[in-house]
Amino acid sequence: MGRIVGIDLGTTNSLCAVFEDGSPRLLPNALGEVLTPSVVGVLEDGSVVVGKVAQELGVRAPERVAASFKRWMGTDRELVLAGRGFSPQELSSLVLRALKRDAETALGEEVTEAVITVPAYFNEHQRAATRMAGELAGFRVRRILNEPTAAALAYGLLEGGGNRSLLVFDLGGGTFDVTVMEVFEGTFEIRATAGESQLGGEDFTALVVAWVLEQAGLHYERIEVAEPLRLARLRLLAESAKRRLGVEPEIEIALPRADGTLDESCPRHRLLASELPRRAERLLERLRLPLARALRDARLAASGIDEVLLAGGATRMPWVQELVREHFGREPRCTLDPDLVVARGAAIQAALIASDAAVEDLVLTDVCPFTLGVEVMKQFGSVQRAGYYLPVIHRNTTIPVAKEQFVATVEPNQRQVTVHVYQGESRRVEENLLLGTLEVRGIPPGPSGQSIAIRFSYDINGLLEVEARIERTGQKFSALFTQNVKNLSKDELARAAAKLQRLKFFPREDERNQHLLRFAERVVGQVGTFQRTALDEAIDAYETALHDTDRAHFEAARSHLLQVLSHLDHPFPGATRDS
Ligand code: AMP
Repeated sequence: MGRIVGIDLGTTNSLCAVFEDGSPRLLPNALGEVLTPSVVGVLEDGSVVVGKVAQELGVRAPERVAASFKRWMGTDRELVLAGRGFSPQELSSLVLRALKRDAETALGEEVTEAVITVPAYFNEHQRAATRMAGELAGFRVRRILNEPTAAALAYGLLEGGGNRSLLVFDLGGGTFDVTVMEVFEGTFEIRATAGESQLGGEDFTALVVAWVLEQAGLHYERIEVAEPLRLARLRLLAESAKRRLGVEPEIEIALPRADGTLDESCPRHRLLASELPRRAERLLERLRLPLARALRDARLAASGIDEVLLAGGATRMPWVQELVREHFGREPRCTLDPDLVVARGAAIQAALIASDAAVEDLVLTDVCPFTLGVEVMKQFGSVQRAGYYLPVIHRNTTIPVAKEQFVATVEPNQRQVTVHVYQGESRRVEENLLLGTLEVRGIPPGPSGQSIAIRFSYDINGLLEVEARIERTGQKFSALFTQNVKNLSKDELARAAAKLQRLKFFPREDERNQHLLRFAERVVGQVGTFQRTALDEAIDAYETALHDTDRAHFEAARSHLLQVLSHLDHPFPGATRDS
């Protein structure tokens, strides 16, 4: 078995880590950095770029780039890049594919298995979409792990510290999770989780954008349609302005021109840090609700929490830290870098799966974040109404778990029942998420009210098994609700994989380019001084071209380097096939 990597697939950035010598190690990407922006772009020649290059491309050509697509995971939304449609899971799979390549380069071996983290508050469709993205990228996904659980694991292993009640406050780029857990002698028991899958640091960036446009007397809706280049540039400036507002009392931000260009003559706007909490009041209020709910579900008061751990880059904002301080009357802990802590925890979970001796004392139990149940009819006087929800497994029940409920036929001689399985908290099923159905046939003739036992088993991998048993005959029917994306058959999955395989990838992400660079660097030490100068220059030009989005420039630099190597009697293996 190869190594299992831990991946934090973030809204803004993604990271990959492995567990080595008793602790997690973050792996660098092709640019030598551990954070890879979760951004995908399509270049003019149709090739795909991921990460910083795609981010840069977005400033010049926003119609060629997609970002923040994690927000749409598990939905039918299509994002169009350079005229081609992609689903959010396809885009995520391109990010994962880039991480996989980079991990293989860093480790010098093939990587085929991964633990991928998701917000605790992701529903089954969002989890399924994440699993599918992993599979499309060529991973066997060993576990979909909740982000705050990963953060707590990292704190638990790396910082130790006895038995306590923890609350992980995880505010990422696009999602917010609160998780309450008990740590007792190496056992991590999740008690409750709550959150919002559409709330994060990006909302604060959007707020800064709106603030600047308001000061300039411009309307967001009009700019979005008529001046996308200005908006793309302003978003980048707003991202850094948001960070600066966290440490400076006032800042200046320039408003790019309509064509997205920017220079000294562009108007500048002054933003006061003291005004941000007022403008962000609604966002901050939305952070309070899941806090209260998680504590209520865990049956704890704020004072019962021994420690609040921060995860997710957006917890760096002082207003967010202040909110936590106010709520708990204590200083939150952020001794581990909030951008890196989830990936490190994912690598620890990978070590648990691989039975690494360094984590043999760690035990992790998780909860089911949503209620799972079935649709039933209700009797109101003489009227029967369909569409009501009967919970079978309540939210925040420790998993694995099996629970049973009883339903009954509603008509005399009713021979069959369709069991509709839902996830959600609403009393009416139409507001919950339909996971699928199970047909129960062969009910013996008789009066209404014949009992059918519905048993749900939910395991740590998010596998839900539903079994229906006709009480009179004992006949059983069952269905497995795996984390498969809604309405997606095996054929469709294969088609999606084939579509992705047909894509061309920009060479920067290609490990062969890294290999060529390292090969050439090695040859430098093996040639004479005179030859060395020419080789050095060719390597410099090639390395520069690796960071360049100009394909022709890259090809020229690559072929020049191959030529120099071959003249020096050190041909790059496979160069004729490859070049
Ligand atoms: P994550 O998904 O955990 O990588 O979080 C990324 C989010 O954190 C983005 O919305 C960033 O803008 C935000 N973020 C990172 N650093 C800071 C900072 N110093 N101040 C404010 N927001 C930050």
